[in-house]
Amino acid sequence: MTESSIFPAPPSFAAQAAVDSACLRQMRDDALHHPERFWLEQAGRIAWAALPTIASSSSFEGDVAIRWFEDGRLNASVTCLDRHLAERGDQVALVWQGQDEGQVERLTYRALHERVCRMANVLRDLGVGHGDRVAIHLPVVVEGVVAMLACARIGAVHVVLFGGFSAEGLADRLVNSGAVVVLTADEGRRGGKRIPLKPTMDEALDRATGHSVRNVLVLAVTGAETPMHAGRDLALAPLLAAAPADCAPAIMEAEAPLFVLYTSGSTGKPKGMVHTIGGYMVWASYTHALVFDHKPGDIFWCTADISWITGHTYVVYGPLANGGTVVLFEGLPSHPAPGRWWEVIDTHKVTTFYTAPTAIRALMREGDDVVARYPLSSLRLLGSVGEPISADAWLWFHDVVGRGRCPLVDTWWQTETGGILIAPVPAAVPQKPGSATLPLPGVDCVLLDDKGRIVTGEGEGCLCIARSWPGQARTIWGDHARFRQTYFSFHEGYYFSSDGARRDADGYYWITGRIDDVINVSGHRIGTAEVEDVVATDHRFAECAAVGVPHDLKGQGLVVFVVPRGGVDRVLAQEAALVISRGIGRYAAPEQVYVVPDLPKTRSGKIVRRLLRKIACNELDALGDLSTLADATIVERLIVDVAGQG
Ligand code: ATP
Ligand code: MG
Repeated sequence: MTESSIFPAPPSFAAQAAVDSACLRQMRDDALHHPERFWLEQAGRIAWAALPTIASSSSFEGDVAIRWFEDGRLNASVTCLDRHLAERGDQVALVWQGQDEGQVERLTYRALHERVCRMANVLRDLGVGHGDRVAIHLPVVVEGVVAMLACARIGAVHVVLFGGFSAEGLADRLVNSGAVVVLTADEGRRGGKRIPLKPTMDEALDRATGHSVRNVLVLAVTGAETPMHAGRDLALAPLLAAAPADCAPAIMEAEAPLFVLYTSGSTGKPKGMVHTIGGYMVWASYTHALVFDHKPGDIFWCTADISWITGHTYVVYGPLANGGTVVLFEGLPSHPAPGRWWEVIDTHKVTTFYTAPTAIRALMREGDDVVARYPLSSLRLLGSVGEPISADAWLWFHDVVGRGRCPLVDTWWQTETGGILIAPVPAAVPQKPGSATLPLPGVDCVLLDDKGRIVTGEGEGCLCIARSWPGQARTIWGDHARFRQTYFSFHEGYYFSSDGARRDADGYYWITGRIDDVINVSGHRIGTAEVEDVVATDHRFAECAAVGVPHDLKGQGLVVFVVPRGGVDRVLAQEAALVISRGIGRYAAPEQVYVVPDLPKTRSGKIVRRLLRKIACNELDALGDLSTLADATIVERLIVDVAGQG
């Protein structure tokens, strides 16, 4: 793939898009020259009980204080529900598609409002008040979304925990967040398996020394027998049935916390990021409207679990703030058979499909003929998030899934950023496969080199942000010193993302991977994405991860793990090495290539390179926190494979 391939929006898309290039230029101009006015205008996207008169008073210096719309007062659930009732009360807000075809639940805005109110009343009756943390530990069910909005309604702070976490992973987060109520389920369904949730939560609470949980609400999902602790555990259904169907929203300060959410844990101990109501809601609405060109009638499907920031912002808050219809799918991409996701798109006439490179790579592996069986004619826009997407996977998604008629927005952002920061506004910014393109209006991206000097024009460096934006996390829960140290100590006055990026002649950003993962071979800096992209161009390989290991002469040597598309075949190690030295240069010739059946990933599908590095260096007694892995058993298998191929 040459960088010159550019994909402007197809004319049919551009003709109906809300923001064209002139409009985008105007927005950039306003955001730059009149930020107060621009952001107060954007604040008008959401509902306020008292409109803010101040946009921002934030400083990245000294103690670091981030505040937006601080004299405004509001309730997030009013923006997502109440304000839509008059105009679109009967429009479907949420379509839940169960694993099996026949299991579908459609909730209108009115019905969702009622469900949220009942849940809010249940929580209020349990004594949950302003600022109290409520842990939500559920499978993919409507109640997950309902519970988030119910917390928002009563001014409580939700902490959504992934349904697949181990007891250990849950225990740490329960203690850290100080949750007073937990909402869990008997079991979840995943493919043909049942995942016990309540028993894992019980174990977590046993382990969690010093936790503050008073009550555990249990939702019956599969109806499995569940031991209940008298005085602590309560069945949810009867409480919901008895609760009033209306609940007055708590009117909150804009800077009151809306949720605490832990980062994916790709690089180490997860951080509990705190997001506050006003700024986050404005950011969710603004970015969802702009990047996904949202319009009435859109059916938006973001495949992320709600326990990930992508689920918070683009399953729940963004689309509902904008009055959209969202799809929530319980099942897996290829269960019971390959093509299940495509079937869901056709069944529910999904217009906007937002997923992650890890899923795209897996679907690509199944072959084009699977996708070709489905018309997918409702699709008008595609999106990717979570990791750098290789040009190869980008083109496949664009051509084979989008049939070349849907723009593809590669969106760069983080738990810390609340919502998208770099992405094409689809009709206005031509796409380049593998590039997240340009920062959104009001996002002031800067590249800083190792010494903290600003890189101008074309160049590479650490991706930093020079000015606050409304959706920015305010602190790390209970640890503002860590917040300052992690994000603001690299260079005074800048938010440090810890990702590396390159800017091309058109000002487009190309994320090269995490700064900590940059490999320095004899003075040549190699980004992980660079190596992985080259390997992806060879169709014998489905996935790849590159890491650096200490090397006596070169400083660092490159070690590469490849997952072949077919069976594991050792000969492929040499082939992969050749592909890399041909594609990048002889200096990048790997010290070692391991051919493995799979890679360690987080729950949100990100490759955990720190573990691969430890395995490659044989530092097996210090593997660190495994609680964020989707499947921890892969680690054992990798250790054996690597020992066998060393
Ligand atoms: P932790 O911070 O705990 O190590 P994490 O960084 O994986 O975990 P998230 O906040 O879920 O947690 O992920 C944000 C990171 O994901 C970004 O910093 C970046 O490395 C990567 N990322 C997200 N979107 C993109 C994208 N479009 N292109 C490249 N990388 C991306
Ligand atoms: Mg991170």
